[in-house]
Amino acid sequence: MLVDLRRCIGCHACSVACKTEHRVPLGEFRMRVRWLPRPDRPGISFLPLFHPDTCDFGANRARYGLAPACVDACPTDALVFGDGAAAGATVTRTAKRLSAKPLETSTRTRADVLYVSQEDWHGEAIHSGVELSPEDTDIIYEQGRRG
Ligand code: SF4
Repeated sequence: MLVDLRRCIGCHACSVACKTEHRVPLGEFRMRVRWLPRPDRPGISFLPLFHPDTCDFGANRARYGLAPACVDACPTDALVFGDGAAAGATVTRTAKRLSAKPLETSTRTRADVLYVSQEDWHGEAIHSGVELSPEDTDIIYEQGRRG
């Protein structure tokens, strides 16, 4: 999986599609998108993450030649999926051209996800998130309680 952070607008379409596709219970995620306050200037950076135990890159869809639900749902083409082992694969060429690399973090994430425009602070900021009200049950997942 290739994630172009320059394109991600933090819309959560990917994580909602994943949850719907796999009937993931409320509060749990196979993949999710963190909203991280920037440490260097005002603003938010959006960081899609893929759970190392539960995300299988849409194996159920691959049987039919379909992309993972998250990739299909992304409105900005921030997610690119392909067989990195295949000769001349677009995802491999794109990753190389854009100097994509795995997330540098001590947190467990899928190691075969490569990020374009990763910044030094991303890896350790994963758990910071945006502070939200505990009463706001619609968006409580952003508080990182589970999943
Ligand atoms: S659907 Fe695409 S743009 Fe929206 S949060 Fe996910 S990766 Fe980012």
